[in-house]
Amino acid sequence: MCGHRSLEPVVFLGYQVPVNAMRRIEEPLRDEPAFPTQLLICPSCDLAQIGFIVDQRLLFPPDYPYSTGTTQILRTNFADLAREVQRSIGLSHEDLVIDIGSNDGTLLSNFQVLSRVLGIEPTLKAQVANERGIRSLMAFFTPAVASQVRGEHGLARIVTATNVFAHIPQIDEIVEGIATLLDPEGVFISESHYFGDLVRTLQYDTIYHEHLRYYSLRSLKALLGRHGFRVFRVQRIPTHGGSIRVYATRNATCGEDASVAALLAEEEQLCAGSPLLREFRKRVLRSKLALLALVHEMKGRGKRIVGISAPSRASTLINYVGLDEGVLECVFEIAGSSKIGRYMPGTVIPVRDEAALSLEQPDYALFLSWHIWEELKPTLEQKGFNGDFIVPLPDPRIIPNSRARG
Ligand SMILES: [Zn+2]
Repeated sequence: MCGHRSLEPVVFLGYQVPVNAMRRIEEPLRDEPAFPTQLLICPSCDLAQIGFIVDQRLLFPPDYPYSTGTTQILRTNFADLAREVQRSIGLSHEDLVIDIGSNDGTLLSNFQVLSRVLGIEPTLKAQVANERGIRSLMAFFTPAVASQVRGEHGLARIVTATNVFAHIPQIDEIVEGIATLLDPEGVFISESHYFGDLVRTLQYDTIYHEHLRYYSLRSLKALLGRHGFRVFRVQRIPTHGGSIRVYATRNATCGEDASVAALLAEEEQLCAGSPLLREFRKRVLRSKLALLALVHEMKGRGKRIVGISAPSRASTLINYVGLDEGVLECVFEIAGSSKIGRYMPGTVIPVRDEAALSLEQPDYALFLSWHIWEELKPTLEQKGFNGDFIVPLPDPRIIPNSRARG
């Protein structure tokens, strides 16, 4: 991103298939390309990044099994963002709020009562948003689209982009487009999965080819700074297992909140070559061995283990640890998921309808969306599951079922 040529390795997770390469169960097995999955860090700007870029056509095939993944944490977070903006910045009905990568309009629905809104979204989700009454443009966000939107709708007071900056190859064009759209005194708010939380809570399973970059405040500040933006405030938020919400502006008179210096100081341990990153590599290995030991012991007692939910990150965990269909019988997804009837990537572990969980009563349910296990556990118990739970990361552990055993 900064032009520095040589990057330092942080951790290598093997050759992995794309996380959404999910073969249909009825199809015969065939070859599946796998790609080196290595996390690197730049010694100059401290941006963590994936070492190999996979062709977007392979990563996002036409039958990409898209799931919205709109968890309660995410919905609460967007409502909180709107309240926070209204409190700290204040919006009038004349102001315009634009969301980049607006999906089905969930974020903007919180702003609609406060101001004018516009979503920009490349997928068919834009139509869903329009049907909900949230004005959305179906387009990839480019500098040309930014100029067109500015001509038609005027300058925005607020531009938001949540969970967007990790995925897009031409990130400088995106920031340039945001600068085009934004009023000179306007505020750009981004939310990104936080590299500090990735390292701290061992979320190596979020390392996969769809995620090109893993931001710290320092590396994000460097990116925005190249386009004249100054970060003036940062908040830690719980989405995706730990994210940062970063406020930036080109308004020179805006003062800097103490939160910026505080987080930058914390990040001094997160830089290339730091003991923390060297230790991270060892912790990833120890965690893999501990999970294998745990399931080895369970299988030795003849116990049955299933997976719960098939988020993208599950693929990295399953393939790096080396869980196969002999260990993990199947993965359960909620009814209606387009992943049901397919195999987990790189394996022949089938994805099945969660309705079977309480009928079959396996002994253990392994949370693959382990970062929200506290949200999932009571739901599974209410549905009648009697078995215990495994939380695989950061340290593999068993969580007993809270239901009285009959
Ligand atoms: Zn760099």
